[in-house]
Amino acid sequence: MFYICPRCFKLAKYGEKKCKYCGFDFKEISSEEYSSKLIKALEHPDHNVAVVASNIIAKLGIKSEEKLIKRLIELLQEKKDPYLESAIIKALGEVGSKKAYAFLIKNKGNFSVISEREIEKAINKIKSKMDRNN
Ligand SMILES: [Zn+2]
Repeated sequence: MFYICPRCFKLAKYGEKKCKYCGFDFKEISSEEYSSKLIKALEHPDHNVAVVASNIIAKLGIKSEEKLIKRLIELLQEKKDPYLESAIIKALGEVGSKKAYAFLIKNKGNFSVISEREIEKAINKIKSKMDRNN
């Protein structure tokens, strides 16, 4: 599993105490702060960084947080490259909420062809999570 350094946005291995690139001490980040940093990384001009951030959000299963979901949806509404779009959809599927579900259902025809499978997966994932909570 990987982390992303909130200072330099390079990858760090899970369990490392400090960023080996910039020396940032990972103990200094709370999970709330970390999710804000990831949101920032999503907006990084280098799309590779944004894709990594989306993958991390998906992998870490970051707690479903209104702010994060709102931002993921906003990013999907902006024009993005299709790989980033797929990565964001995947992240949205992992953190998903009723709002994310409604958005994906409503907009599923508006994304690129390569995102089609991710959309179906994300919708199913959120749906089964909602079913479990009922
Ligand atoms: Zn760093």
